[in-house]
Amino acid sequence: MSISLSSPLGAIKGVGEATEKKFRRLGVCTVWDLLTFFPVRLEDRRAEKKIADLRDGETVCVTANVFTPVEGRPTRNGQTVYHATLRDESGFLPVVFFNNRFIKNMLIKGRDYTFYGKVSASSGRLELTNPEFEPAGRELFNKSVVPVYHSTAGLSQRVIRRAALAALELAGDALPETLPPSLRREYNLCSLAFAIREIHFPRDMENAEIARRRLVFEEFFILQTALRGRKLMNRVASPHVFADLDFSPFTGLLPYALTGAQRRVLGEIAEDLGSGRPMSRLVQGDVGCGKTVIAAAAMYLAVKNGCQAAMMAPTEILAAQHCEGLAPLFARLGIPCRLITGSLTKKRKAEISEALLSGEIKVLFGTHAIIQEGVRFRNLALAVTDEQHRFGVRQRGTLSAKGEEPHVLAMTATPIPRSLALVMYGDMDVSSVDELPPGRQRIDTFCVDEGMRERINAFIAREAAKGRQAYVVCSAIEDGPSADVKAAVSRAEALRSALPGISVGLLHGRMKNAEKDAVMADFAAGKISVLVSTTVIEVGVNVPNATMMIIENAERFGLSQLHQLRGRVGRGGHKSYCVLFAGNLSEATLERMKIMVQSGDGLKIAEKDLELRGPGEFFGSRQHGLPELKIASLATDMDVLKESGAAAARILKDDPYLEKEENFYLKGRIEEFFKDKKDFMA
Ligand code: ADP
Ligand code: MG
Repeated sequence: MSISLSSPLGAIKGVGEATEKKFRRLGVCTVWDLLTFFPVRLEDRRAEKKIADLRDGETVCVTANVFTPVEGRPTRNGQTVYHATLRDESGFLPVVFFNNRFIKNMLIKGRDYTFYGKVSASSGRLELTNPEFEPAGRELFNKSVVPVYHSTAGLSQRVIRRAALAALELAGDALPETLPPSLRREYNLCSLAFAIREIHFPRDMENAEIARRRLVFEEFFILQTALRGRKLMNRVASPHVFADLDFSPFTGLLPYALTGAQRRVLGEIAEDLGSGRPMSRLVQGDVGCGKTVIAAAAMYLAVKNGCQAAMMAPTEILAAQHCEGLAPLFARLGIPCRLITGSLTKKRKAEISEALLSGEIKVLFGTHAIIQEGVRFRNLALAVTDEQHRFGVRQRGTLSAKGEEPHVLAMTATPIPRSLALVMYGDMDVSSVDELPPGRQRIDTFCVDEGMRERINAFIAREAAKGRQAYVVCSAIEDGPSADVKAAVSRAEALRSALPGISVGLLHGRMKNAEKDAVMADFAAGKISVLVSTTVIEVGVNVPNATMMIIENAERFGLSQLHQLRGRVGRGGHKSYCVLFAGNLSEATLERMKIMVQSGDGLKIAEKDLELRGPGEFFGSRQHGLPELKIASLATDMDVLKESGAAAARILKDDPYLEKEENFYLKGRIEEFFKDKKDFMA
């Protein structure tokens, strides 16, 4: 029978319909899927011993004869234990199986088998418990290095292993080589056929490592070639080549001098804007480093050069704050701005859209409302997304589609470890604002438990008496969609009774927008001293008089999120504090909280977070745009990531559209990549 890589699994001998269905649950449908269903780890079963040499606690292979037939004995709790005695030339060994009535038919007295299992001492005697066994001389898995797969109910490791083995026998030789030969030579990479075989059934651990390196390299390489390729293709000519790149009339109006980092990044942006190619730049910098004003200066340049600019923020609060903060500055330069959010009436939105289309409005701030269909610009030349990690690639793309190849500026205060930035933003240039404005003080951070509740309340009261303000952030304590709201509501009640005479406000995502705005405005104006909220205030909000950030159930937050929340304070001249209430202090939680207490460096915290939680959880479920990796790890394969990045750059430099013969298969894989990752690539 002929079988190809795209044949369904059923084409493999021994894979019936029921098994095929279980595989499908794991996303494995074709022979190729199975061959690239990589084991999560390997088990080395090569160690063999004679019975007389066995030691308590070791897991080994023993080849032995079944000396006494399998016998079942009932236990006190109604189960049956099956016993037999094994023998080799060195001695005897009891073997025990729990609740496997088929054993009687599988282990035949007088025959030789190879057993793999754990040796343990039971009332002073060594025995083998629940070993895996195969007929001696015909071992498939025992005495070798064996793959262990991620599995699903009812699909045993043995069934997966047998299917993988069969797939390799049938189709292993049909595997085409995807990497160009020159690349394989340069980076010393084994062939795909070798890699696929040895990743499942390696001859030894060295081969497994050689195979893994090739596959990790390939995965990163394809990802980065795809991203860089897209970046190259995006390098069309820009219809917006700005001639006037002097932003000093705008920055001169600021009540402070720009930091060196801000000036450097603005310079990079100005260069992009005049370069003749559309800008695609990510500005990353810790909370409070002053990214907003950088974007505003770029927007000023767009307007100065006769165009429009838009800035999209993930929440209404933040969008409103941008508009309120910047509109007065723009007004002094005669630049009309407007704010658009979901809560405006249809009529108001239509008015704004009309004024945009006529060119009357030059700068638009807003939420997702900006990218709605009805909103049209006359000539949008700069599209800014603030807190861009909160948006999907698709949403950023929709904003860009509002103009003709507009310049794109994205900002994020979630510092992204370099390993992630490379993969996630391979198609963007990255600028880092690595300096805080002068005079910022360290935010003293404490991790406390319930026992400190009263003292912390007293502390809030003292600070409030000095005119300072506090945030109290609640996360969900129970599960359920509005659990965090409940938590915030009851925390606000508790604080109101604990702090008589101090005004306590409440803010959560279930409130109407007008209510939220009113509460936020009161807090900004100092009419509210303590603001209890859900994480709606996580990003961007700026109230310099707030000096305390109290976080309830801090153990439930990611480190980067905690850092982000902490960044809401310490924004004015006053000494600021962050208090993390954490219960259930497991060792891991303790370590995470310790990092928060010790470090104020967002990048360091992000790297630690990535290391501790892995890239999937690093951003939480909100994260879009993180590609799923089959074998490579963003936490541990940094070296290979770098190598493959350099390789991708070189290949594209040599053959930007991958038209050369030797890049034929690579091009196919990249097209597949774009097909599979529609969400990721927009
Ligand atoms: P983020 O980078 O987190 O978005 P913001 O842009 O909100 O930070 O800036 C935080 C605060 O720092 C704002 O109050 C802003 O006015 C102020 N700020 C920005 N740049 C400077 C500077 N160079 N000197 C002093 N204060 C600054
Ligand atoms: Mg910001």
